[in-house]
Amino acid sequence: MDIFKTAQEYLMPTYRRQDICLTGGSGATLTGADGREYIDFASGIGVNSLGYGCEKWVAALAAQAARLQHASNLYYTEPCALLARDLCERTGFKKAFFCNSGAEANECAMKIARKYSFDAYGENRGTVVTLENSFHGRTMATLTATGQEEYHRFFHPFPQGYRYTPPNDIEALERTLGEPGVCALLIEVIQGEGGVMPLDGAFVKAARELCTQKDIVFICDEVQSGIGRTGKLFAYEHYGLMPDVATAAKGLGNGLPVGACLAAEPFSDVLTPGTHASTFGGNPVVCAGARVVLEALDDAMLASIEAKGDYIASRLRSNPEIAQVRGRGLMIGAQLKTLRAADVLAECARNGLLLLTAKKNLRLLPPLTISDEEIDKGLCILAQALENKEGL
Ligand SMILES: *Cc1c(COP(=O)(O)O)cnc(C)c1O
Repeated sequence: MDIFKTAQEYLMPTYRRQDICLTGGSGATLTGADGREYIDFASGIGVNSLGYGCEKWVAALAAQAARLQHASNLYYTEPCALLARDLCERTGFKKAFFCNSGAEANECAMKIARKYSFDAYGENRGTVVTLENSFHGRTMATLTATGQEEYHRFFHPFPQGYRYTPPNDIEALERTLGEPGVCALLIEVIQGEGGVMPLDGAFVKAARELCTQKDIVFICDEVQSGIGRTGKLFAYEHYGLMPDVATAAKGLGNGLPVGACLAAEPFSDVLTPGTHASTFGGNPVVCAGARVVLEALDDAMLASIEAKGDYIASRLRSNPEIAQVRGRGLMIGAQLKTLRAADVLAECARNGLLLLTAKKNLRLLPPLTISDEEIDKGLCILAQALENKEGL
């Protein structure tokens, strides 16, 4: 059977895919249906935190699947309660809501902000401010929240109540947040899809202070940057502050779909029975696996993520084709001088390395457990692709 042909015949053409069919993996090395091996600098898209074949994670899933695969949120299950406790104890947030994706976690965060504002101030205070160059998801509301024009086509009419402000412009932020009707500021402290662009410390700090002054809910979208990716459990920790609400998803489930919305007091009790729900949210199998991910992210692991990231970044910086390297830990963006990122990605895929792009940059989001040997192998393939310009 030709999987490429079958997929193209029966799947909606929403993705540009490489001609690779993946069948398995071990550590941070994947295997294709053709038997070839690929070093993984992508982990899905920042999803497979523990790489492939993590025995502890597989055992946790298998045990919970054999016991009880789903209960609905009309009852309690232990993995769901314990994951919420683990996340809150590790962060200082008060309560969690579980769903299935990053977009859904951001929807939850925006609903918290709007209801908090409604309860405190009544109607007409529901505007969500987001940043230009941001990415918050593909549902109608999160697509609207996404501050990039190219996403705001085709799907009119878009939901009301969104405003955009440029990143790292404190004066513009103050003006936008000062307009009547604003209830929330939603930001990625490191813009992922926007090209791995860390926000300035002064800007994020000003954002936190302005939100506190104006009773605006300060939400950090940590769907890509959270769960150890940058060497801290959440990237906002690098900025020395605490948001009111944070969202997580990609890396939390090690490949199984999960989203989490974490809220501090008083935002943690805003969504009361009947105001929000998700059928699959908090699924016990997924939560049992996510607990293994969190447990793996101890201080030694977080330090190793930072160290591996620094090593990769320094190797990339010494490459003459790379103009700039940005990011933190194992969330790395590399801006190229002359080559097209998509061409480099395709060339690397042909040579056994899976990468990502973001805008015109190469983007690296390897499994957090990637070995030094796999890193060196991957960097070697990448260096060859960057050198062999005639081939691209
Ligand atoms: C990927 C991503 C999302 C969307 O997550 P989905 O699980 O695809 O819905 C939202 N925000 C950020 C920052 C992301 O990187």
